[in-house]
Amino acid sequence: MNCRVCGARAEGEFCEMHAESCENLQRNYEAWKKSMGLSWADYLREIQKNIYAGIWVKEVAQCLLSSNPPKEGNSPVEASNI
Ligand SMILES: [Zn+2]
Repeated sequence: MNCRVCGARAEGEFCEMHAESCENLQRNYEAWKKSMGLSWADYLREIQKNIYAGIWVKEVAQCLLSSNPPKEGNSPVEASNI
């Protein structure tokens, strides 16, 4: 497979750097959701505007937003405590 963001050869849907950024995104989302009540899509948009976010993370956020529009309120993390 090739990375969905940069096209580099990858084991999964992202290359090593973008996969790591994606994991960071998902981890940080839990904190943002708790403190700001953001949906996953809103969170990704905020990341893209965030001057402190790294370029890798922004590229992943852009990719996730455009290629797979999440439904409002959906979390990328499997809900285990319904
Ligand atoms: Zn990549």
